[in-house]
Amino acid sequence: MPSTTYRTVILGGGNASGYAAKAFVEAGVEKGDVCIITDEAVVAYERPALSKGYLLGAARLPGFHTCVGGGGERQAPEWYAEKGITYLTSARVTKADLAARTLTLASGDTVSYSQNLIIATGARAVKLAEFGVPGADLSGIHYLRDVKDAESLVAAVAAAKEASGKAVIVGGGYIGMECAAGLASTGLAGATTIVMPEDRLMARLLTPQLAAVYERLYGDKGVSMVKGAKVTAFAGKDGKVTGVTYTDGAGATHSLEASLVVVGVGARANTDLFTGQLEMAAGGIKVDYMMATSVPGVYAVGDVAAFPLTSVATGQVSHVRQEHVTHCRSSAAQAVKAITSTSAPPPAYDYLPFFYSRVFNLSWVFYGEAAADATTVHFGDMTEAKVFGCLWLGAGGRLVGAFLEGGSAEEAGVLKAAVAAGAKGLEGLDTVSGSGLVAAIK
Ligand code: NAD
Repeated sequence: MPSTTYRTVILGGGNASGYAAKAFVEAGVEKGDVCIITDEAVVAYERPALSKGYLLGAARLPGFHTCVGGGGERQAPEWYAEKGITYLTSARVTKADLAARTLTLASGDTVSYSQNLIIATGARAVKLAEFGVPGADLSGIHYLRDVKDAESLVAAVAAAKEASGKAVIVGGGYIGMECAAGLASTGLAGATTIVMPEDRLMARLLTPQLAAVYERLYGDKGVSMVKGAKVTAFAGKDGKVTGVTYTDGAGATHSLEASLVVVGVGARANTDLFTGQLEMAAGGIKVDYMMATSVPGVYAVGDVAAFPLTSVATGQVSHVRQEHVTHCRSSAAQAVKAITSTSAPPPAYDYLPFFYSRVFNLSWVFYGEAAADATTVHFGDMTEAKVFGCLWLGAGGRLVGAFLEGGSAEEAGVLKAAVAAGAKGLEGLDTVSGSGLVAAIK
């Protein structure tokens, strides 16, 4: 079986991998030094587009290959060829032997690295079949992680619209909220229901007051919501889903008709190839401030990496995973800097948790931690759903988290800086709205 050796191998073809390639090129990597291996059929793209622009028909490949989302060049296959980076697509790695510095592909071929391996294997969608939910393998039940999934979901939405079918979304997190908005905007308004176990949308982040604004909007846009519900089974006919059964808080069983189901119940890091070979933490691969793992020369970046993060709320350092594109970009850049730096290593990785989403005509950002024991202070006009948000004030009134809907880039920047600095004395913000926010915080 053919065997090839590169100086550096990047395993995984997601966001982090595309940004690592960009960083290598910027560092002046020699042609032929880097190889990227992915089991996807296409080179890296901006994954966040899948649950937003892709569902609306606005984003299609090659338009959103990395690094267009980060303000870089669009790295289509020709870009990698021109830069002398080998990109193996549709190539699944079935075995990683870190002692031998060798990866084995499903084809039987092997790829080795002489210096560095960057693990960017990301995460996969948690499947309801893993919990033994009856009917979870029926066709018509969709997950959304890669462009193949997005393509089949878009086709299913069109078919459901054509047949006046109904859609059920399982989970009220990022996928649930963004997909429900996508479905309602592309013909399934009035025919889409979100079923979730919590009492509100995105309960881990949104306060009840914030969630209420979005829930009102979803209602206005023709999306129904069933809260406090546990999906117990899927009904089907001829192998295709026809309905969803759930139990409510009181234990009563109900069912909903569904020709299309989208499940977004979280993600799990892809660490399996490295079990027993690398130290693990927080469900991922443990790394230091350079993104270096417990094996010399081996780095992990993006969703799969559990890196040391200083809590803005407690000041404590713990290893965490962040499933977010901003961390994919910056952790990839950090690992490449650590690998290519010829003098002192780069400064320690310093990350402020950041999340964002866009649904319908709304768009929010969040910085820091939605600490459970913090005092929350809402601001802005939450009835008009234009510019509003919430601040999380921790011990001594220090700002530990900030959520902003509809604000300007300048306002978001002010909040980000204020959270990073642990700003104090912001209690008066509940009376501030819109552009007054910036002045109030400054
Ligand atoms: P999530 O963690 O955001 O939400 C999971 C939801 O499913 C929660 O409401 C949870 O309570 C519910 N849930 C969990 N177990 C369940 C069960 N057995 N039955 C029913 N509901 C259950 O995860 P997600 O929405 O699936 O997103 C997956 C990944 O995609 C994450 O990494 C996320 O960060 C990423 N993503 C991010 C964005 C963004 O940042 N804007 C957008 C889309 C996806």
